[in-house]
Amino acid sequence: LSERLSGVFDRLTKAGALSEDDVKTALREVRVALLEADVSLPVARNFIKAVEKKATGAAVTKSVTPGQQVVKIVHDELIAVLAGEGEPGALKIDNPPAPILMVGLQGGGKTTTTAKLAKRLKEREGKKVLMASLDVNRPAAMEQLAILGTQIGVDTLPIVKGEDPVAIAKRAKTQAGLGGYDVYMLDTAGRLSIDEELMAQVEAVRDVANPRETLLVVDGLTGQDAVHTAQNFDERIGITGVCLTRMDGDGRGGAALSMRAVTGKPIKFVGLGEKMEALETFEPDRIAGRILGMGDIVALVEKAQEVLEAEQAERMMKRFTKGQFNMNDMRMQLEQMLKMGGMEGIMGMMPGMGKMAKQAQAAGMDDKVLTRQIALIQSMTKKERANPQLLQASRKKRIAAGAGQEVSDLNKLLKMHRQMADMMKKMGKMGKGGMMKQAMK
Ligand code: GDP
Ligand code: MG
Repeated sequence: LSERLSGVFDRLTKAGALSEDDVKTALREVRVALLEADVSLPVARNFIKAVEKKATGAAVTKSVTPGQQVVKIVHDELIAVLAGEGEPGALKIDNPPAPILMVGLQGGGKTTTTAKLAKRLKEREGKKVLMASLDVNRPAAMEQLAILGTQIGVDTLPIVKGEDPVAIAKRAKTQAGLGGYDVYMLDTAGRLSIDEELMAQVEAVRDVANPRETLLVVDGLTGQDAVHTAQNFDERIGITGVCLTRMDGDGRGGAALSMRAVTGKPIKFVGLGEKMEALETFEPDRIAGRILGMGDIVALVEKAQEVLEAEQAERMMKRFTKGQFNMNDMRMQLEQMLKMGGMEGIMGMMPGMGKMAKQAQAAGMDDKVLTRQIALIQSMTKKERANPQLLQASRKKRIAAGAGQEVSDLNKLLKMHRQMADMMKKMGKMGKGGMMKQAMK
C-alpha cells in the first residue's frame, strides 16, 4: 500500500496550497487504508468528507508533497476524532464506594479487564477496590475472578451459591459500604451474542447498582461486530466508556474509530495482553497511526514542519540580536511559552533565555501571569506594540484598565520587555560562541 501511495504522491503537483484535486487523489488512498483497517464504510465515508473540506486550500509545508500533507491532515483529524474530552483513562469514582459496571459479550475480556483495572486503581490511585463476579451461569468464571484477585492483592466478594446477579450486586454494594471500599467493580456475565435475556439481566443490575461508570469491554479484533455490540449496549444500558482488548494483536484498530463515531463515547483503556499489567490508557495518536498505517509519511511531514519552524526561529533571532524586539515578538514568545507548558519551554526557542526563564519562574510566573501579560499587549495599539517606549502615563492607564489590570502590572511587563531586548542585543554582539556560553550560565 505504501508503495502505491508514494507513486500517487509523486504525481501530484507541488504547490503552496492544496487544490481540490490534490486532496481528492490523496483521500482515495486514505479511504482504502481506512477500510483495510476495518473502519466501517459509512464512518470512513463521513470521515473523508469532513477531512476533504478541511484540507482543501490548506497550506503545504515546504519540501513535502501535497499528498503527504493531506496524510498529515488526515492523521491529525483522526487523533481529534478519537480523543475524548478530559484526561485519557479518567474515571468518575469520587464519593466512595463508587460502583463500576463492566459489560460486554462473553470472551471479550471483561473478567481480565476488571482485574487489570482494579490493580491499576489500587496501585496508581491508592484505591481500595472490591471485585464481584455476577457470572452465575459459569461457576468457573467466579473462580477466575477470585484467583485473579488473589494474584493482584485485591479483595473479591465471597461466592455464595445459588444467588442471582441482582442479589450479588446488592451484597457487593453493602459489603463495599461496610468495608470502607473506594470502588466496587461488578463483572457481569456475557453471552456469545446479544440477546434479550442478557440485556434484561444487565439492566436489572444497573438499576440496583446505579453505576458511576459503565464500561463496555470489547475485543478490538472483531471490527464491525464490536461496533454493533457497542451500539447495542449503549442504547440499552447506556455506557460511559469503552475498553478495547486484544490490541496486542495485529488488528489495525479501525473499530476504535467506528465505535467512537457511532456511540460518541470515549475509549478509555486498551488491553495489550493477558498479563495483569497489560492495560494502558487509550492514546489516540498511537491508534491513529495504526489505523492509517502511514507512519513514515506522517513522520516526514512533522520533520519538515520542525525544520521550517527552526528556520523561522532563526530568522527571528537575527532580528532580535539587531535590537528589533518589539511587543509583538514578546507576545509571540509569551504565547509560545504557554503552548510549551511554561517558562522552561522558551529555552528551546531562544538561546540565552534560560537564565531569564529561571528568574521569571522564581518570581512566580505561571500560566495565569502569562495570560494576563498577553492581555496587556493585546490592549495596546499597533504602533505601541511596535514601539513600546512611546507609551505615556495616560495611555498606560488606559491599557491597564482595558486589560482589567493595574499600571504597575503594565510597568512590570515593560521592564521585562526591556530586559529581554537588552539581553538579546548583547547576545548579538557576543556572536554565536559567546551567546551559547551566556546561555549556559
Ligand atoms: P470475559 O468472558 O469477557 O470475561 O473474558 P475474559 O476476561 O475471561 O477473557 C477471555 C480471554 O481473553 C482470556 O484468555 C484472556 O486472557 C484473554 N484476554 C483478555 N484481554 C486480553 C488482551 O488485551 N490481550 C490478549 N492477548 N488477550 C486478552
Ligand atoms: Mg468473564
